[in-house]
Amino acid sequence: MSDAALVLFSAGQDSATCLAWALARYQRVETVGFFYGQRHAVEMTQRQVLRRAFLDRGAANLGEDHVVDLAGYGAVAESALTADRAIALAESGLPTTFVPGRNLVFLSVAAAIAYRRDIGVLVGGMCETDYSGYPDCRRETIDAMQQALSLGLATAIGIETPLMHLTKAHTWALAHELGGDALTDLIIEHSHTCYEGDRTQRHAWGYGCGACPACDLRARGFEAWRRA
Ligand code: ZN
Repeated sequence: MSDAALVLFSAGQDSATCLAWALARYQRVETVGFFYGQRHAVEMTQRQVLRRAFLDRGAANLGEDHVVDLAGYGAVAESALTADRAIALAESGLPTTFVPGRNLVFLSVAAAIAYRRDIGVLVGGMCETDYSGYPDCRRETIDAMQQALSLGLATAIGIETPLMHLTKAHTWALAHELGGDALTDLIIEHSHTCYEGDRTQRHAWGYGCGACPACDLRARGFEAWRRA
């Protein structure tokens, strides 16, 4: 198995930080993104802008990008992210932005690509700390998935989750540790988090509507990092 990693790359703050983390550790890094009918196709644009920015910074080990159309899954898993429905708390206590099984599907498809590309490590920005208790972001779930994929593919598949126990403020700090102001500026400018897909309003922490839960989390994390 080569010294290579495949980063689940959605163009968010977390996955941009994961990409920088992987680029610092692996000789070959490829990226995968999923289209599943999300309202903000802006993600798909920002993925390419971010990849170009990393290449311009001299990331010679950044290899191919893979985009997989999972619109069929998106239709099945329909929720506030993929449908025109208000973002609110459902009766289950999970926000309506919860897309059931999303990370399980993403990791399965990513593992298939990794297998074909002779890559033994997947890297994802799943995080237990700041999120709304998405059960497929927990390390326990990821460990089970790692085992299932390794057994099912009969080859060792590792799943690295460098942000698992970090707050959003810690994630900004990690990016700064990896690449200084140049990297945090790049993430502020080009990564996209906003659920509403807004890139018209520029804040100190980047673009977004400033009102949705994703913007709120990003803004609060940024302010906490700046105060630290
Ligand atoms: Zn927003």
